[in-house]
Amino acid sequence: MATMHLSVVTPDGSVFDGEVEMVSVRAESGEMGILPGHVPTVAPLKIDAVRIKYENKVKLLAVSEGFVEVRSDAVNILAESAETPGEIDPKRARIAKERAEERLDRINEEEIDVMRAKLALKRANTRLKVSEGS
Ligand code: ATP
Repeated sequence: MATMHLSVVTPDGSVFDGEVEMVSVRAESGEMGILPGHVPTVAPLKIDAVRIKYENKVKLLAVSEGFVEVRSDAVNILAESAETPGEIDPKRARIAKERAEERLDRINEEEIDVMRAKLALKRANTRLKVSEGS
């Protein structure tokens, strides 16, 4: 099966570096399934799971905001954070989710940075989804 090189990098370093068969990401413009030979492009990513197919396995990463760069034989993802299921602390993600939900519940009572709370909630939900393997 044809492969392409995938690199996923965050400020903490490399999270994935290897040959893959397919990468699925959620770009701002919608879901992108990237196969070898995909048209070159650069797209901003939404906070979501990235699905990587390689060696008959599917690996999930919880990825927060970043960019995907698609070249003819390589895909590069640069993100604020990216975690494998095993790296995710579900308890911490649940606490972050509750904190964000409480903030969003208080929108009318005090000055809340709604966008910030919504993004925190999305990061927490993505981490919980990836840690549960879905
Ligand atoms: P929290 O409020 O729990 O810090 P957050 O969404 O604000 O969550 P980020 O700013 O996205 O956290 O991430 C900061 C760093 O902590 C990154 O390196 C990220 O990989 C790591 N991180 C955040 N949440 C978790 C988690 N639940 N499990 C493991 N690592 C996490």
